[in-house]
Amino acid sequence: MPIQATEKIWMDGEYVDWDEARVHVLTPSLHYGWGVFEGIRAYERADGASAVFRLTDHMERLFRSAKIYHMEPPVSLEGAVKVTKDLVAMNGVPTCYVRPIVYLGFGEMGLNPLNSPVRMAIACWPWGAYLGEDAFETGVRVKVSSWRRLDANIIPPAAKATGQYLNSSLAKAEAVKAGYDEGILLNPNGYVTDGSGENVFLVRDGVLCTPPLAAGCLAGITRASILQIAADEGIRVREADMVRTDLYLADEAFFTGTAAEVVPIREVDDRVLGDPGPITRRLQEVFTAATRGRDERYRDWLEPVT
Ligand code: PMP
Repeated sequence: MPIQATEKIWMDGEYVDWDEARVHVLTPSLHYGWGVFEGIRAYERADGASAVFRLTDHMERLFRSAKIYHMEPPVSLEGAVKVTKDLVAMNGVPTCYVRPIVYLGFGEMGLNPLNSPVRMAIACWPWGAYLGEDAFETGVRVKVSSWRRLDANIIPPAAKATGQYLNSSLAKAEAVKAGYDEGILLNPNGYVTDGSGENVFLVRDGVLCTPPLAAGCLAGITRASILQIAADEGIRVREADMVRTDLYLADEAFFTGTAAEVVPIREVDDRVLGDPGPITRRLQEVFTAATRGRDERYRDWLEPVT
């Protein structure tokens, strides 16, 4: 589905018209994938106001990603937070997806990233359910990918870098071509990491399990939110390595991510897990209430736009 244009995009300190937000074709990041980005959602709250979900946490992760890649964003963290809120208000999209990106701008070409100017942009637009409108209710069919997730000493999964999504997109394309909705990547040692753009959870014997970050998972903000909600709901939680058969034999499984939100997994490699189970349903319910401002316990996660 094409991106639905909004009015303005923030680029290096200015709000420019959507169609004018251009970069030169010789922009080094386009050639070598040296850039870092975020995916954030803003939600219209029950009272009609808009709030960005865990905006500061996302910007902190962006700045951590930039540090790994030797880039100093051309705006402070507080500045990036303010610009995001202003942009959402300016574009009149109380429910939207926000995409900040820090990258190397036009100037020098070559593999030394250290002399190029660091550029930054933030855009936002309305974006629906990432894994499809039905996915939230019925769940998705998943394939364990033949592609392995990047090793931390090859390209660090701790950063959310543009180039590393070659790995995710290979897994996504493979899954889609084979007729599945999403792929899950194992790490080079065969342990479960992430979906192409989501963290993975499973439930077995009433315990909620997710792989540890050291397996090569992104430190997902939805993942952290679900772990907090589970603790608050009295659900037992375990972070532990898991192999692909742990997915096949799970009582319940689901993905978490900003774009996907909380999406049940109904099948893995044609092993049927079935309809979304009670723990998945409860976590979906509380997460949805939290993001829409209907659960007082999580008010701090909502950063109001105005
Ligand atoms: N893993 C990967 C590989 C991702 O791309 C994402 C999306 N950012 C996630 C997990 C989920 O992270 P978050 O909940 O912060 O969006």
